[in-house]
Amino acid sequence: MARRKKVYEGKAKILYEGPEPGTLIQYFKDEAAAGQPEVQPSAVEGRGVLNNRLSEFFMAGLNSIGVPTHFIRRLNMREQLVRMAEIIPLQVVVRNFAAGELSTRLGIPEGMPLPRPIVEYYYKDERLNDPMVSEEHIVAFGWANQQDLDDMIALALRVNDFLSGVMMGVGIRLADFRIEVGRIWEGDFMRLIVADEISPDNCRLWDMRGLAEREGTAGAPVEPGPLADVYTELARRLGVLPSNVTHAPKPTLIN
Ligand code: ADP
Ligand code: MG
Repeated sequence: MARRKKVYEGKAKILYEGPEPGTLIQYFKDEAAAGQPEVQPSAVEGRGVLNNRLSEFFMAGLNSIGVPTHFIRRLNMREQLVRMAEIIPLQVVVRNFAAGELSTRLGIPEGMPLPRPIVEYYYKDERLNDPMVSEEHIVAFGWANQQDLDDMIALALRVNDFLSGVMMGVGIRLADFRIEVGRIWEGDFMRLIVADEISPDNCRLWDMRGLAEREGTAGAPVEPGPLADVYTELARRLGVLPSNVTHAPKPTLIN
């Protein structure tokens, strides 16, 4: 059997050639997303397995409500089959609550609800540290045209509504998230789809469970905090935790 061809290895995933033209296999690694210290500082055992499940859950959900994504099907614990897309070199960020860079740059208190979802773009270039860019830059440098931008905003806002609702259903606030968008061709028509992954590594999630109770007892208002053990906890709340990924101690030999 011929060895399958590795197309790309990034920080979180490895891409292999898929079984049919126009497809890819995404392999989810456990290694930490270096350069994303704000997300998770270190490698987490089972992170790849959980992100594979979680990205499947969100992408399949989006597909089912008519928001196009690259997801075709999950193949095994760490791999999923996706449609190959031509990635637009941008991270599209949607913010619902002030946090991170928005708070520090503009002095807006962390946690403040924003008057409307704010869409931002960051140019995907690690050497430059993914700098924020404007629509002017994007159009001038030919990364996308005005029509693409309109479609990208519409796509990102639909993803935002879906994800916010799903998270709210399990007691989690989606403060912000980022997606990658790619182009696919169907005959002469091009359309934009959600690509890459949707997982805790590109969402800022705050735990809302038990806030009301704590508020009552402590006196001072309680702020929602980050979700502890985010991969396992999110997978557990959404009911997609594979039974063999636990933090239980490894089996030991009995003498
Ligand atoms: P990085 O370290 O560059 O973030 P990852 O480890 O996340 O990389 O690997 C995923 C890579 O695959 C990214 O460069 C992403 O843009 C690309 N990618 C994701 N989905 C698709 C797709 N459907 N088609 C082509 N490329 C994709
Ligand atoms: Mg990545």
